[in-house]
Amino acid sequence: MNKDKRSEIFRRLRDANPSPTTELHYTSPFELLVAVVLSAQATDKGVNKATARLFPVANTPAAILALGEEGLKEHIKTIGLFNSKAANIIKLCAILLEQHDGEVPRDREALEALPGVGRKTANVVLNTAFGQPTIAVDTHIFRVSNRTAIARGKTVLEVERRLERLVPVEFLQDAHHWLILHGRYVCVARKPRCAACTIYDLCEFKQKTA
Ligand code: SF4
Repeated sequence: MNKDKRSEIFRRLRDANPSPTTELHYTSPFELLVAVVLSAQATDKGVNKATARLFPVANTPAAILALGEEGLKEHIKTIGLFNSKAANIIKLCAILLEQHDGEVPRDREALEALPGVGRKTANVVLNTAFGQPTIAVDTHIFRVSNRTAIARGKTVLEVERRLERLVPVEFLQDAHHWLILHGRYVCVARKPRCAACTIYDLCEFKQKTA
């Protein structure tokens, strides 16, 4: 895909949604971090339901530690893998208090050192809470990038690196959200909604349907 086409794709995605953001509900970097950890293999909707109960009761590392692991589980038990997620969040809260004055660190290395936090979670937090132009490649971004040919790659890391190199700078900050939302609602996995797609003419997917 050439540069002009790629720019036009992001121009159209921006025109359709000038200020995209995550669908997870949060009011602080810590709430976002917890919500993203909870969202692994779960829907944003399901996470929002649980955090709507949890955050009014506990939305700081100290408050969650005070709840204890069992208390935390009570609030998040509707989410898949809640046992291991609760254990990770409790450990993560202790580390934030011991090593980061209870604050969420702003650098990748420190974030990825937290239990339950991988590269993707770190990228979401860096981008959405701290305004860094990172791209967290999830299943939606991986699919859309490969299908359209915006940035093809065999692994998520390969796609992430290509996107960072190929997405025009003016679109980098929000590219992550535009691609996720496009994948979630238009370029869906089984039957992409090509007839309703605003970038239909620019997409290089051979099996796109009119
Ligand atoms: S044309 Fe179809 S395959 Fe291409 S981006 Fe749009 S929905 Fe996805």
